[in-house]
Amino acid sequence: MLGLMQDQPLLISQIITHAARHHATAEVVSKMVEGGIHRYTYTDLERRSRRLARALQHLDVDAGDRVATLAWNGYRHLELYYGVSGMQAVCHTVNPRLPPDDVAFILKDAGSVLLFAETSFSALVEAVAPRVAGQLRAVVIMADRARMPNLVLPPGMALLCYEEVMAAADETYVWPVFDERTAASLCYTSGTTGRPKGVLYSHRSTLLHAYATSMPDAIGLRSVDRFLPVVPMFHVNAWGTPYAAPMTGASLVMPGRHLDGASLAGLMNEERVTMAAGVPTVWLGLLQHLRASGQLLVTAQRVMIGGSACPRMLCEAFDAEYGVRVSQGWGMTETSPVGTYNTPKASNAHLTGEAEMAMRVKQGRVLYGIDMRIVDDAGHELPRDGVRSGNLQVRGPWVCSAYYGEQPGSALDAEGWFSTGDVASIDPDGYMEITDRSKDVVKSGGEWISSIQLENIAVSHPDVAEAAIVAAKHPKWDERPLLIVVPKPDRSIDKDDLLRVYEGKVPKWWLPDDVVVVAELPHTATGKLQKNALRGQFRNYLIENGAA
Ligand code: ADP
Repeated sequence: MLGLMQDQPLLISQIITHAARHHATAEVVSKMVEGGIHRYTYTDLERRSRRLARALQHLDVDAGDRVATLAWNGYRHLELYYGVSGMQAVCHTVNPRLPPDDVAFILKDAGSVLLFAETSFSALVEAVAPRVAGQLRAVVIMADRARMPNLVLPPGMALLCYEEVMAAADETYVWPVFDERTAASLCYTSGTTGRPKGVLYSHRSTLLHAYATSMPDAIGLRSVDRFLPVVPMFHVNAWGTPYAAPMTGASLVMPGRHLDGASLAGLMNEERVTMAAGVPTVWLGLLQHLRASGQLLVTAQRVMIGGSACPRMLCEAFDAEYGVRVSQGWGMTETSPVGTYNTPKASNAHLTGEAEMAMRVKQGRVLYGIDMRIVDDAGHELPRDGVRSGNLQVRGPWVCSAYYGEQPGSALDAEGWFSTGDVASIDPDGYMEITDRSKDVVKSGGEWISSIQLENIAVSHPDVAEAAIVAAKHPKWDERPLLIVVPKPDRSIDKDDLLRVYEGKVPKWWLPDDVVVVAELPHTATGKLQKNALRGQFRNYLIENGAA
């Protein structure tokens, strides 16, 4: 017998119609690439998204077509999120920090037919356009006529102005109702571990993810919040927050392109931001600025960190010095991205000091909807004892089943698990702790050493700005940890003093065999350490330098 409840597909257009009807005055504040602040309400966003959907029809965009974007976080990008997906096309966000080669590869792989780009990416667009000639019908510059750049595009590729295209459309568009499993957006992995691969989200997966992340033990946005997504909309849909904010009625404060500490502190205080989300590098930058300038955070209460391990000092410093609670989430492009979030349980909420910190630096426990387990190399599940670590696998309705262009289910094992490529432990309370990417782990004499843990301890040393651990070849142990550090400005590194920072914190045999001081470390387009480049450079360091 079927239930007798209304059968409503879960569609992205419902989020914005809900926000327009029930949170009509909540704001979208955008710091513009061209300078100045733009502000309007969710009512305006919904109206303009419908106008955009009509404009896309005029541009012959059909259901299922991929429409690409090269843009920072701002209101026009939001209109694309809702207008493109709402009319049943696929919003394909492209990371503009990638080299032109990768951008061209991604546009081709996705087969995108239109490209919406901000003026700040004109050079990138010109570099990429000839390589997608014949495929890309037009480039739409996300600006008004007065700010249109003079771009040279290949024959057959039109150059259009966003505000003109919008002005030529009307607002009579009615959001269509269709199957909730329809593709809504497409995002490519950052390629830390190989060539970028597309992850194709559905309306259903997007709504379930937004629901789940809105729960109080997850990101927990509320309608009283003014939320600043520093995480870019081209990086896993800004962790789904452009959907969760209008769903909950929280206002959005969009930072545009300047993500340095001073710009963020100014925006957070001027726009009364209560919560913000981004990768650790961003918050390290903000902390350095606040400490150097003496500026305070006036309204901020919470910061969400994800994308890389959250250094303990960030939790401690924001709490103690600025009264801001830092919490950590874990996920990946393939998981929409949020899979786990770290908030206390009744069993540990009373912890203080060291014990509390040991809990807070873990990546957290699953959101309802996601299941996870750790397995050994033979695929056998390992105990949840918080000690053993193994390959982390996840499954759930917002975990990808196959990469773009491949057979459904092809990314899963026979039981439907997706292997994350992360190595983790899970404690009896369900808190998962990442110890490594499977490629980054140091295998010394057959035992695993966590590069993340060693890096986190290294950056707690007062002279160290950034640290990386590389598995260097060793004749006896196969691999040993090599520590590569960037000193803070005006500081120098004393190797012995630095290595003393590990005393009592890790087993003696985990100690790095040597320390290399460098001026800077290589990063990926999403700001993560580029471990494969470092491995290439330092793989034989111990052997060549006789340290082994
Ligand atoms: P890519 O896999 O191409 O680097 P993603 O942005 O999808 O791109 O990165 C996902 C990976 O980032 C995860 O598999 C994990 O290794 C790492 N990661 C994400 N969040 C955290 C976290 N809180 N702590 C440690 N690592 C994290």
